[in-house]
Amino acid sequence: MPFAISHIPSRGPFISIRDRVDVDVLVDVDGLWINASCIASCILHPVSCICKYMLPWDKLKEECGIFGIVSHPEAARIAYLGLYALQHRGQESAGIVTSDRKRLHLASGMGYVADIFDETRLERLQGDSALGHVRYSTAGASNLVNAQPILIDSWRGPVALAHNGNLTNAATLKHELERDGAIFHSTSDSEVILHLISRSRRRTLQEAFVEALRTVQGAFSLALLTPEYMLVARDPYGFRPLCLGRINGSYVVASETCALDLINAEYVREVEPGEVLRIEQNSVDSQLPLPKQKPAHCVFEHIYFSRPDSLVFGRTVNTSRREMGRYLAREHAVEADVVVPVPDSGVSAAIGYSQESGIPLEFGLIRNHYVGRTFIEPRQSIRNFGVKVKLNPVREILRDKRVVLVDDSIVRGTTSKKIVSIIRAAGAKEIHLRITSPPVIAPCFYGIDTPTRHELIASTKSVESIRKFIGADSLGYLSLESVLKSVANGKDYCSACFTNRYPTEIAADTADDDRQRSLFAADEDPE
Ligand code: SF4
Repeated sequence: MPFAISHIPSRGPFISIRDRVDVDVLVDVDGLWINASCIASCILHPVSCICKYMLPWDKLKEECGIFGIVSHPEAARIAYLGLYALQHRGQESAGIVTSDRKRLHLASGMGYVADIFDETRLERLQGDSALGHVRYSTAGASNLVNAQPILIDSWRGPVALAHNGNLTNAATLKHELERDGAIFHSTSDSEVILHLISRSRRRTLQEAFVEALRTVQGAFSLALLTPEYMLVARDPYGFRPLCLGRINGSYVVASETCALDLINAEYVREVEPGEVLRIEQNSVDSQLPLPKQKPAHCVFEHIYFSRPDSLVFGRTVNTSRREMGRYLAREHAVEADVVVPVPDSGVSAAIGYSQESGIPLEFGLIRNHYVGRTFIEPRQSIRNFGVKVKLNPVREILRDKRVVLVDDSIVRGTTSKKIVSIIRAAGAKEIHLRITSPPVIAPCFYGIDTPTRHELIASTKSVESIRKFIGADSLGYLSLESVLKSVANGKDYCSACFTNRYPTEIAADTADDDRQRSLFAADEDPE
């Protein structure tokens, strides 16, 4: 394979890459050798980029999405549609496993659901039950071996696992299992659960499953497909969402209700924190075998991750975000001409801000939803190129205006800085940045990909320093109190990334790393 080495000094994320990326090119960024194809992929495919140096879209990353259906004649196709609706929860890889009641069949690949599955592949997924997964890697490297569902053949027979969340004691358990002779196939933390099930001395698979779940700690909303039935579980804190639905008498489970809407399934209820379901034919059996804990739902599901049309933790995300916008207008009022959302996640909150403040809402930034993988880079350097690929300002809305810009969060601050700069270049007189969350000061260990603590701008800088760095005329963060008033049952939420107070103990090896990590050092992101 052609191979080249070049030196590119660190000049922020939008260095020009002249070499085409279909060859292996290593570039040196601050002494760190990075594959240029990785750099290119973050520009071409910003949502799923995991490289901290070249990341043009500075957001916390969605985790994973799962979808399962039992006893439906078109199981594979329904699962495909379910994953389609959950695509926002992970764009690196996707997979579907089906059961024909004797064997399990797997198809998976890297990229978008629509690119991986075609008519022929779906046709080969025989059977009337299916389990699907979309993945963004929060633990484990990004490659096909880590795609889920993970299908294994153990002495208990074939089983497939799909997991959303992150286990906080996975590294410790993995080392113990390896010392005992276990050989790991992937770098995903989810594989630990399968090893625990396989090694359990419990009589039935369901008992072994529950025993494994009692051993792991952290966040899990997951499903296990066997040839005859599906087991579904949610951790006792309920960090990640998981709901149960019904379509023509068949049960479905999904990370978000938007997946039920797409297939015309009826919403039944949330899977309860600590609950284990066994779904077989047209029946559901429920158990609560895991120790009860005070719920700690991830509040970021409402702020940013989940789709606004989903019902999550008892309230639609759209309603929560509008409420956040209303509180933001009360907490950080300003004289302005127009409220402009950063699309898409800022839209509902901007509507709330506009309604509360009486300042008209305008779509002054237009998002390109079709940023694909094939892309011809500019021959000349273009300022803020990476952000412009995704967002374009509407000049007649912004020119000579005092703008309230509404966004959901600031992570490193680099994207906010660029957005402010393109709005300023479009002629805005003043820019007042309003954020629907408190400052993010601490990493997440429960399935959201966050940078290390020192990379989070708010962990070391004051609000005024962040405002200066971003170049806004004013900056206002929503208080945690108001965030929690905007969601249903606000006392039942995790907000550790704003407070540094984690609802569970974090294993020392995880906490030392200061972010959730791959189980295999060699596969960790470059630092
Ligand atoms: Fe969600 Fe933050 Fe808690 Fe992680 S630390 S689960 S992102 S609220």
